[in-house]
Amino acid sequence: MCLTIPAKVLSVENSVAGSSVADITVEGSGGVRKIQAVELPGLKAGDWVLCAYDVAIRRISQTDAGEILALLEPKGHIDVSRLDREFLELLKSHAAGGLSKENIIRLLKTEDPLELETLFAEANTVRQAHLKDFFCIHGIVEFSNHCVRDCFYCGLRKGSADVRRYRMTPDEIAETAGDAVNRRGYKLIVLQSGDDFYYTDDMLADIIVRIKKICRVFVFMSVGERSLECYVRMKAAGASGALMRFETSNRALYDSIHPGQLLDKRLELLKGIKKLGYYLASGFLIGLPGQTEEAIAEDIITMKELGANMVSVGPFIPCQSTPLAGHPAGSAQMALKVTAVSRLFMPKAKIPVTTALETIESEEGRRLGLSSGANSLMFNLTPEKYRGHYRIYPDKYHGKEEIWENYGLFKEALSYRMLEKKMFEEFEK
Ligand code: SF4
Repeated sequence: MCLTIPAKVLSVENSVAGSSVADITVEGSGGVRKIQAVELPGLKAGDWVLCAYDVAIRRISQTDAGEILALLEPKGHIDVSRLDREFLELLKSHAAGGLSKENIIRLLKTEDPLELETLFAEANTVRQAHLKDFFCIHGIVEFSNHCVRDCFYCGLRKGSADVRRYRMTPDEIAETAGDAVNRRGYKLIVLQSGDDFYYTDDMLADIIVRIKKICRVFVFMSVGERSLECYVRMKAAGASGALMRFETSNRALYDSIHPGQLLDKRLELLKGIKKLGYYLASGFLIGLPGQTEEAIAEDIITMKELGANMVSVGPFIPCQSTPLAGHPAGSAQMALKVTAVSRLFMPKAKIPVTTALETIESEEGRRLGLSSGANSLMFNLTPEKYRGHYRIYPDKYHGKEEIWENYGLFKEALSYRMLEKKMFEEFEK
């Protein structure tokens, strides 16, 4: 589903009796503009509406509008006259052909409060220019916490003896997805597991087919390093996207925390998945041992080279019983800087606020992420009885979903059809 920043109706110019469409003028974060209102009889100046592109499709109360604005609106005016000309020119260089690696590093290194505020505001402006005022809300179903790998940072690694392992049955997975789509209004669902080969290629394809039979939804698969043939099967079954991070593009760092795994193999698989026509979601961890700003800059550049459509970047959070248990967590501020720089570097990418950032900063992490260039959230749909056992790291943030779900525009049949067309066009590119 999708949430938009509310706009205030300034005037209703052309409301013909009996017609479901009216021309109206609204004022929102993008300024004053003329749009149409559809199926909103009796709309008048002073009302608040939610808009999908250039159509107002839902009237909301002033109180509710205020609540959404508090969640989504960035801070007000920034006095840039106190900033160095060098910094401002560097910041604007993204519009003139992209940021250089040196400039990315310079932005990642800044600790100056005014520079940071300006960076986040610029990223928010770029997000607004390219993706309008849409904030997508996606769902994730963590259907198995078994894993054959031993990544040093992950609580689900096969060496973690204290994990209560579970696997959802295909029926449970399909039912969970169907309920999220048909009752709660979700439109894009990620099915995630550890690298668990209990689920054969046939089983994964069958799960996707079952879900697509009972609801209209984009299915993204996050099932790790499977064969390219598996990804071919899942695409044929109806999967639209694949989510797999490379975690770090620094070879020495990758080798040191991924025993038995090869960075080249993972990157090749990601390229193969992209070539198959998947909507590719990838990313990396922030705050790994010895990770420098230069390494993070290379990660951002790698994401673009892979052609990632969605960027998933979160701070590392230490988990007991892993080799990195004693290593400090990644910084939330660096996560926000990476979000903002990624937005400048890849203006059209979808950038979710990761649960790891929410875990460090709670609800404020959502607001900070969304006003620093991110444009979506990922809510956990895993059934309660399993949720606590998917412990990649401890104390995952979970809360206030109802407020967001309450305003999700995709619950409206009209907006569903309209936005589905837009999304399909994008997926097909
Ligand atoms: S990060 Fe993924 S592949 Fe690595 S141990 Fe955790 S679940 Fe398995």
